[in-house]
Amino acid sequence: MAAYDYEIHDYDVVVVGAGGAGLRATLGMAEQGLRTACVTKVFPTRSHTVAAQGGIAASLSNMGPDNWQWHMYDTVKGSDWLGDTDAMEYLAREAPKAVYELEHYGVPFSRTEEGKIYQRPFGGHTTEFGEGPAVQRTCAAADRTGHAILHTLYGQSVKNNAEFYIEYFAIDLVMSDDGVCQGVVCWKLDDGTCHVFNAKMVVLATGGYGRAYFSATSAHTCTGDGGGMVARAGLAMQDMEFVQFHPTGIYGSGCLITEGARGEGGYLSNSEGERFMERYAPQYKDLAPRDYVSRSMTMEIREGRGVGAEGDHIHLNLNHLPAEALAERLPGISESARIFAGVDVTKEPIPVLPTVHYNMGGIPTNYWGEVVNPTKKDPHAIVPGLMAVGEAGCASVHGANRLGSNSLIDLVVFGRAAAIRAGQVVDAEAPAAEMNQGSVDQAFDRFDGLRHADGGVPTAELRLEMQKTMQADAAVFRTSQTLAEGVERMTAIAGKLDDLKVTDRSLVWNSDLMETLELTNLMPNALATIVGAEARKESRGAHAHEDFTTRDDKKWRVHTVAHVDGSKVTLDYRPVVQDPLTTEAEGGISLKRIEPKARTF
Ligand SMILES: Cc1cc2nc3c(=O)[nH]c(=O)nc-3n(C[C@H](O)[C@H](O)[C@H](O)COP(=O)(O)OP(=O)(O)OC[C@H]3O[C@@H](n4cnc5c(N)ncnc54)[C@H](O)[C@@H]3O)c2cc1C
Repeated sequence: MAAYDYEIHDYDVVVVGAGGAGLRATLGMAEQGLRTACVTKVFPTRSHTVAAQGGIAASLSNMGPDNWQWHMYDTVKGSDWLGDTDAMEYLAREAPKAVYELEHYGVPFSRTEEGKIYQRPFGGHTTEFGEGPAVQRTCAAADRTGHAILHTLYGQSVKNNAEFYIEYFAIDLVMSDDGVCQGVVCWKLDDGTCHVFNAKMVVLATGGYGRAYFSATSAHTCTGDGGGMVARAGLAMQDMEFVQFHPTGIYGSGCLITEGARGEGGYLSNSEGERFMERYAPQYKDLAPRDYVSRSMTMEIREGRGVGAEGDHIHLNLNHLPAEALAERLPGISESARIFAGVDVTKEPIPVLPTVHYNMGGIPTNYWGEVVNPTKKDPHAIVPGLMAVGEAGCASVHGANRLGSNSLIDLVVFGRAAAIRAGQVVDAEAPAAEMNQGSVDQAFDRFDGLRHADGGVPTAELRLEMQKTMQADAAVFRTSQTLAEGVERMTAIAGKLDDLKVTDRSLVWNSDLMETLELTNLMPNALATIVGAEARKESRGAHAHEDFTTRDDKKWRVHTVAHVDGSKVTLDYRPVVQDPLTTEAEGGISLKRIEPKARTF
């Protein structure tokens, strides 16, 4: 057994992650007087949320008629009927409250002439239950909305005495023998010390796993660490096959150009200069949802109408918009286009390509953020002591496809919900439980094994092999053949984790070891993604299967549940919640089941 000295910290709640979700949960916990620690591998304001540009959805009706029922309907339809209806109702209903809270905490939103929060149109957000024109629902702070939110929430958390453990890397969960989460084992990156956090509630807010792919808009730190920890604890991941490709990553670098660019009037064109989205989505055109637009772009390229010397990308045009509007509403992306594509957006189009952007799947939870470990007897069974929020979680409000600006609102609505729930279930007076020493030892053994790994494959090499395979075999369009080959290849790649080579054995700022820990987290996420995709014989949302081109609600309106053990994935399925939370008539609208129909725009 590996011997590591460690310091023990006792808290009511430990939140792992300081992105929008982690900070909103931390703030809510601390406001109620719960002793709260927030552990994060990067400085809070460097979390990926800081890069969110376009905005946050809530039916404030500042720019025209809107209501939460329309927002809920758009989210249900956007999810291609795979989201849980109760959670989607909770999201849309609570969204305005959560945004006003942010405003009062101090988020510097852009304003209308009358001083109200400015809202812009975003893909898939409509009026009249998808029958009316596009709505302006996305609240924005220019094109730096995530930046504004993250900085505000960090300041408020500090003010409320939350304690931050910055540049602490969470290695594994501590679980009792009867399945209660008791805490988390951490390694402090800058001095090499080890720490065990004992908590009555652990909240995983570790973000997505975009870096399982070769080209992604997400930060290099988005390595699915929460999913990895959960898989090693024998718990489930859900709907992992649904990976969102954002239509407008800059060709080459993958750097994001926000959908807000199309919201402000930008449009896509092919090599013939044609505004082709008019053909695919006559009503909403460039503001159709992301899965739809990404597929349309891919078809244009395949049919020989791509732009550039190789005909392998598409143009995003903003140059017809007034220069003042670009400077005021989209200053950040004007700069990105200049740096990463060498383009002056007031004069030329930006070269773009669908790029991996968001993970709809994650750790399954209910709409309070409580982690679910589905069993045959109880598909909604809860794991005591464990919550998951933000992109790491799957409540599930995004189902098979997330609408733009619905993630930032998911972070704050469910971060807040988790805090409300913890206030109800955590007994701050109770003494700290005795931790399961076996579970703590196991975490340090794994850590030590990787630290001294002396096999034949360097971490960076294996990571690249995984990323290229995922990029090629689990792409925008998928076939039975690419998926079957992908599963075979990924199984072999995951097997090589036993043959890793780590060269640096120190404990202080050992980035080799940290990236190795991250790779052991990316791998189960990637495996669950490709195995889940291979098994799902239909097309739904972001999962476009060329051999099964239609949605099959009878057989496949179910959540995929994946358990990953080493390179082995076991799949199961659990029902989608189809009934709303409430059924009362409100504002003249009675809520009922939103029955599936063909998804056209
Ligand atoms: C470029 C870009 C633009 C976007 N724009 C928008 C937008 O305009 N609107 C919208 O709704 N959505 C947008 N999204 C999506 C949205 O921003 C993300 O889904 C969301 O920010 C994720 O937030 P999070 O709190 O779940 O995780 P993150 O912000 O990714 O934070 C993860 C946190 O977990 C910590 N962590 C992870 N692993 C460990 C570990 N092992 N130990 C300790 N700490 C750990 C990290 O330090 C970090 O603090 C965008 C995404 C990208 C990539």
